[in-house]
Amino acid sequence: MSDSKLPVLFVTSEVYPLIKTGGLADVSAALPNALRNMGIDIRLLLPGYPVVLEQLSLIEVHENIRVFPLQDPVRLLAGIMPDGITPVYVVESPALYEREGGPYQDANGKSWYDNPLRFGILSKIAAKFGQHHFLFKPQLIHCNDWQTGLVPAFLNFDSKRKAKTLMSIHNMAYQGVFGPEIIALFGLPPESFNISGLEYYGQVSYLKAGLYYSDWISTVSPTYAKEIQTPEYGCGLEGLLSQRQNKLSGILNGIDTMAWNPESDPNIKNHYSIKKVVNKKRNTQALRTQLNLAPTTAPLLGIITRLAEQKGIDLLIPIIPEIMKSGAQIVILGSGDKGLESSLENLAKTYPKQISVNIGYDEKLAHQIEAAANMFLMPSKFEPCGLNQIYSMRYGTIPIVRRTGGLADTVIDATLENIKNKTATGFVFDKASSDELLLCIQRALKLFHDDKKWTSLQINGMSRDFSWNKRAEEYSLLYQKILSDNT
Ligand code: ADP
Repeated sequence: MSDSKLPVLFVTSEVYPLIKTGGLADVSAALPNALRNMGIDIRLLLPGYPVVLEQLSLIEVHENIRVFPLQDPVRLLAGIMPDGITPVYVVESPALYEREGGPYQDANGKSWYDNPLRFGILSKIAAKFGQHHFLFKPQLIHCNDWQTGLVPAFLNFDSKRKAKTLMSIHNMAYQGVFGPEIIALFGLPPESFNISGLEYYGQVSYLKAGLYYSDWISTVSPTYAKEIQTPEYGCGLEGLLSQRQNKLSGILNGIDTMAWNPESDPNIKNHYSIKKVVNKKRNTQALRTQLNLAPTTAPLLGIITRLAEQKGIDLLIPIIPEIMKSGAQIVILGSGDKGLESSLENLAKTYPKQISVNIGYDEKLAHQIEAAANMFLMPSKFEPCGLNQIYSMRYGTIPIVRRTGGLADTVIDATLENIKNKTATGFVFDKASSDELLLCIQRALKLFHDDKKWTSLQINGMSRDFSWNKRAEEYSLLYQKILSDNT
């Protein structure tokens, strides 16, 4: 096959299991693996955070790279991901990346003051790969989110450019907007600081740079690809995105079907399959005991989320007393916004036998909740793709979601017709309001007592193919299209 050794560099600021703050890390782990299985020579490029350096065994492949005249030189290291599949390059710079705290923020949640430089340097190194300066000669550089948005800009103004670029948006809400001084610092031409360029209301937007200068743009669901061309979802970049709509694709994320498999998940005690969904009940009882919730036959609703405005938890809080009247229970795992954290903790104090609130990040508990819950709540205001509704369907946990982004593309509403034709997999509501959310939850609570219909929803969801293999084929076709596109 002509594409069997297509060299692609996948630049990302996080990858599971090395470092993860959200869905980007899952995609960065699974998609390259699936593409390598298809014969594409895709390799990762990452910043050398302490957790990355600790978990990989790396060798130096390039010393002393002086990226910008006034900056300390960096080193380029190489290794292989812990699962032994995808090769990885790491930019090592103690001054930029080796510090305690998160990849983007310090322990108090404050963005690192030098983020423009930290991700500018990552992007500049990626662009050097695109000049074929290093060992590996990618024909395409696949960039992800604002942290890599300058790669297409650097390459656009580079006469030695050899690689094309794909800019993937995992979330439009994070744009990397910084002061214009970086233009001179990074040696970008002054004309790039323009509305037709990377300028954004007098500042520089790294995401806009990627969207403006890349050869192609993709995002993580077909519906989100349409939504971001509108003012409601485009975060100020809808004009640019609708201008470039002919070069904008939406490809749904897959999931790691090995890690998320109720038949073999090492995080749960009672395994179950589509043939014996009824065994899921043991996990429900076990989690109730583990979290000190009352034994009951009423349903258990799960939530696993970053506690951020996007996720619509503020729509849920006012209707919790009403939900509690039905006897249902809610288990929440999440962290983020301190106000939301304390409102939820107060609700757990009011309803100690019905609500369990777990603040923090806990991979094991996340799996246990998916295995135990009867329903899963995602009332997101926007959701580029979303993974938990997919994990839920795989675990026979019925998702209740807002019709937006990837939620709209993955969950099929339990209308009478969809139940009858065996396509229904969950409950979907339209307007981001507490009233509509409550009505939707009440529809689910009602159907829960119809064992036959409920089991058929579970089976419909559990039999869907959410694997990365299918998605990787779509990316492979897109890569070929970008490389052959001369318009
Ligand atoms: P986003 O990227 O917007 O946070 P996604 O649904 O695409 O949302 O991906 C979130 C990922 O992070 C999922 O794998 C989810 O299970 C996981 N996750 C989010 N919060 C937590 C948490 N507190 N503990 C464990 N896993 C979490």
